[in-house]
Amino acid sequence: MGSKYVYGPVPSRRLGFSLGVDLVPFKYCSYDCIYCQLGKTTKKTLERKEYAPTEKILKEVKIALNTGGRTDYLTFSGSGEPTLHSKIGYMIKQLKGITAIPLAVLTNGSLLFRSDVQSDLLSADVILPTLCAVSEKIFIKINRNHPLLSIGTIIQGMVDFRRRYQGKIWLEIMLVKGINDSESEIRKIKEATEKIAPDKIHLNTVVRPPSEKYAAPLSYKQLQKIKQSFGDTCEIIAGFKGKKQISYSHTKENDILNLIKRRPVTLDDISHVTGLHKNELLKYLERLKTKQKIKLTQHKAQKYYEVM
Ligand code: SF4
Repeated sequence: MGSKYVYGPVPSRRLGFSLGVDLVPFKYCSYDCIYCQLGKTTKKTLERKEYAPTEKILKEVKIALNTGGRTDYLTFSGSGEPTLHSKIGYMIKQLKGITAIPLAVLTNGSLLFRSDVQSDLLSADVILPTLCAVSEKIFIKINRNHPLLSIGTIIQGMVDFRRRYQGKIWLEIMLVKGINDSESEIRKIKEATEKIAPDKIHLNTVVRPPSEKYAAPLSYKQLQKIKQSFGDTCEIIAGFKGKKQISYSHTKENDILNLIKRRPVTLDDISHVTGLHKNELLKYLERLKTKQKIKLTQHKAQKYYEVM
């Protein structure tokens, strides 16, 4: 509580306990993905600038690091696309100077073709970009990109970045049923990953409430079949019922559940009352849904959480 830009540490399937650092205002992004768990993009932009005050962010991270708690990764992610922040490179260097905790950047990868973005990320330990499609039409359909972006340039950017960057690249492939899961598109994505040569491939699907209702998940069985074609470096990261969960704070989970028990609430409401960052909240809400304690309903354009 009390932090505006830092949240967690939150349990994360890909990064263990991750201290999240939010660099841009809510849903400032170069994409408006149909599967986005945060809802619709409020500002679709390619403009890089200091969206949030750099020194304040650094101060909050230092306080959070001193407060303790298990932290496996310091992660630049949050409410939109972190590489839009023009001082991300400076912040990575500053933080690498004060902590041995590895630093990760969760990015949609759309700006990796820019040499300034590449340079900014060189000091990070892990970059986690996402690739959903190779065909332009499918790319537009799923990522609803800024019109000045093209998937060919983005993939070439990832290939070029791989050549410059000495750290780890864990590439996420996000699959949506009936949109980018055809055999031919999967084959094209595989060919692209061979050029990008990531250290790991993370197969994912729509497990959290998506921005668009029609963005449906693949089954675990389908993902397993696709995984085989990507080889040994590929793992499924989508959480399915019965899969091992990492530990969560029971107090936070109960506080959230008690709030929802009173009346149906939106993500904004819960964030406002608990003071928790939306990204952190989504992890608890997903867990409560998996335990069948709450459900998501829609009224007009608004999504509400209520008890089952
Ligand atoms: S999923 Fe990520 S890249 Fe896509 S719209 Fe949401 S924040 Fe942007």
